[in-house]
Amino acid sequence: MFKTKIKKEDQVVVISGSDKGKRGKVLFVDNEKNRVLVEGVNKKKKHIKKAQSPNGQGGILDMEFPMKLSKVMFFCEKCKKGVRVGKEISGDNKYRICRKCGKRLD
Ligand SMILES: [Zn+2]
Repeated sequence: MFKTKIKKEDQVVVISGSDKGKRGKVLFVDNEKNRVLVEGVNKKKKHIKKAQSPNGQGGILDMEFPMKLSKVMFFCEKCKKGVRVGKEISGDNKYRICRKCGKRLD
């Protein structure tokens, strides 16, 4: 079963679709639906009615929409690219590591 290793606050890069190559911070992970919300990515215009609007102004709002988890990869600062995440066990602690350079990600 596919289980994501991506967590909230991680830096990810989009690997497919119209936002390919964009980077952003993970705002929310929905493991049940396999979806992720990434800051500044997959933005769409949403029409807001005055009553639903936070500032009472209504109109068109640019906001992020969740996208498939399979469309993003963890962004490794050292490799400067999207990488697969591995696991390192040290005593009782588990760390996520970059499978490419071995850097600890947690
Ligand atoms: Zn790396």
